Amino acid sequence: QKEVIVVGAGLAGSEAAYQLAKRGIKVKLYEMKAKKKTPAHSKDYYSELVCSNSLGSDSLENASGLMKEELRILGSLLIEVADKNRVPAGQALAVDRDGFSEEVTKILKNTENIEIIEEEFIEIPSDKIVIIASGPLTSDKLFEKISEITGEESLYFYDAAAPIVTFESINMNKAYFQSRYGKGDGEYINCPMNKEEYYNFYNELIKAERAELKNFEKEKLFDACMPIEKIAMSGEKTMTFGPLKPKGLINPKTEKMDYAVVQLRQDDKEGKLYNIVGFQTNLKFGEQKRVFSMIPGLENAEFIRYGVMHRNTFINSTKLLDKTLRLKNRDNIYFAGQITGGEGYVTAIATGMYVAMNVANRLENKEELILEDISEIGAIVNYITEEKKKFQPMGANFGIIRNLDENIRDKKEKYRKLSERALEYLKKSIKGV
Ligand code: FAD
Repeated sequence: QKEVIVVGAGLAGSEAAYQLAKRGIKVKLYEMKAKKKTPAHSKDYYSELVCSNSLGSDSLENASGLMKEELRILGSLLIEVADKNRVPAGQALAVDRDGFSEEVTKILKNTENIEIIEEEFIEIPSDKIVIIASGPLTSDKLFEKISEITGEESLYFYDAAAPIVTFESINMNKAYFQSRYGKGDGEYINCPMNKEEYYNFYNELIKAERAELKNFEKEKLFDACMPIEKIAMSGEKTMTFGPLKPKGLINPKTEKMDYAVVQLRQDDKEGKLYNIVGFQTNLKFGEQKRVFSMIPGLENAEFIRYGVMHRNTFINSTKLLDKTLRLKNRDNIYFAGQITGGEGYVTAIATGMYVAMNVANRLENKEELILEDISEIGAIVNYITEEKKKFQPMGANFGIIRNLDENIRDKKEKYRKLSERALEYLKKSIKGV
């Protein structure tokens, strides 16, 4: 029987392993977390969501929503499980993080053809097909081996996670439920601030003590995960245009828009936990408690997880990988997930799916399936495998998808048309595959 090694039972590796197994290919899935955890993983189950519990928008007017729909068409396990474990979050697909990961773990453990090996994978064989999906926090030993093979220095930036608090500790006399612009069912918890409260908070935040990170100031930060204190430091009002934006929210107590609003999003199915949206941070834990407790409604918040910051490693895919995400100089090695520079949960699932389809086709002597940048999955693959001077990770977005032939000015209409075209193209491409 044909056999493939998959390294890492994260988002990409879990999807890849399942897709291969389903196609009758034997998979040896290596996952080290039972014995050794990365700095961001804390649970024993697979496909752990290390930060937000949201997989982003589920609307076809959004590129992440389109990518999810493409994955549904391709039969993605992880999106199916995410849909089943959905929690209310407006137009976003947010999940009960434990429910989601536990279900994926159970399925992987009970799928024929998957053998799970709970070890750190270090030696990369030259005579077997290997899919490396060990994530942004790939263990050092494995990363050394990857660097030896690729002959490249590693690329990296810093990424951060936001804190989580319990619902019962939020003071709902001050906070209120509402979704921005009335979209969704009012699922977010909003903590309103007047001008004085905002400036008191801002002044403490910018001088709060941070956890030490070597050469941190010189290091690269990924914009979408900019720590809240860094956003604050870029200008005293910047937060009110970002995570503390009051627009689209009316305080039911005053029937007015507040000066600033901190939003919290449900993190588990029962609604016992909430994460503070956009509050990824590198503050010391004690400082997080002190400064974030100044937010009206969070005076007595119980933090069940503090925000953290981590190095995020990826390879220079633009030089190293071909369009099937296979190493150009070692044709038995493939990459999937965040380590390719494809950014974000859904992109990790997408590259895991894409690699598995291509590896399966290869083993079955079928043609490669190269998706073009007409679909969102094809657009990401194209972006991370085309040479460029400065490569930075990229998540799903409409900026990388091929332009429409016609010029449509209305953005929403344009995005809808792009999505329609993408889904049609995808369905045609996989016919008979
Ligand atoms: P992972 O899900 O990390 O899976 C990799 C797996 O490989 C892990 O289980 C790990 O234990 C295992 N592993 C590593 N080395 C070895 C080895 N040598 N042998 C065996 N097993 C190994 N994206 C978002 O969309 N939203 C967010 O909120 C978000 N927050 C993030 C916060 C942090 C701190 C980081 C680092 C990243 C974040 N990302 C976020 C980016 C990215 O989407 C996630 O990291 C995502 O989990 C990547 O999926 P993956 O499958 O590539 O890797």
